[in-house]
Amino acid sequence: MNLILMGAPGAGKGTQSAKISEKWNIPAVSTGDMLRAAVKEGTPLGLAAKSCMDEGKLVPDEVVIGIIKDYLSSDKCNNGFILDGFPRSIPQAEALDAMGVKIDAALSIEVADEKIVERMSGRRICSGCGASYHVKYNPPKTENVCDSCSASLYTRDDDAAETVLNRLTTFHKITEPLKDYYAAKNLLICVEGQEKVEDTTAAVMAALAKFEA
Ligand code: ADP
Ligand code: ZN
Repeated sequence: MNLILMGAPGAGKGTQSAKISEKWNIPAVSTGDMLRAAVKEGTPLGLAAKSCMDEGKLVPDEVVIGIIKDYLSSDKCNNGFILDGFPRSIPQAEALDAMGVKIDAALSIEVADEKIVERMSGRRICSGCGASYHVKYNPPKTENVCDSCSASLYTRDDDAAETVLNRLTTFHKITEPLKDYYAAKNLLICVEGQEKVEDTTAAVMAALAKFEA
């Protein structure tokens, strides 16, 4: 299964992509995680990306298209993949098509803007493995400690309130048109994001059941 995950920032793409990855045994790649890793390492790519990310803007298309091209051509993706956060603009989707990659479904997790702001303010990320938590909706067993690797949790720089609003604006303007793009190809599946992570997971799995081998 070659799957695209879409949704507003904070809709829960990363959390659900980890669940799908585990169940289907296919790799999940997040362009956001890759960019944050580049920022942390201080690579030229990271330095270029950081200012865009901190302002809640998209990193230039050619940058992320390059990253994804490398990734999809690796052997890891032979049995399928999940793209979390790519494509995020029409030119990125067109570039993906031009790579000759067949997509089975574009799954959109729908969450209202009011919920997004609350979610992002409570979001915490593991400094070790990148797992995502929420202080209220998906808390770790021990405060500020990752359940799976025990590393400490942190708040993403771009989850600051002003940046969140910019990211939402960017999402509606540049990313949301992708729903029409994939609907026209009959690939769009929409799932309502639920309050509880496991309820969203159940809805996602039900929507993907038809792709089960
Ligand atoms: P979220 O979906 O919660 O906004 P991500 O981790 O997916 O978080 O992305 C964080 C930031 O990384 C985005 O705001 C953007 O600046 C950058 N980014 C991630 N994926 C892309 C992409 N496909 N195209 C351009 N920028 C991207
Ligand atoms: Zn961890």
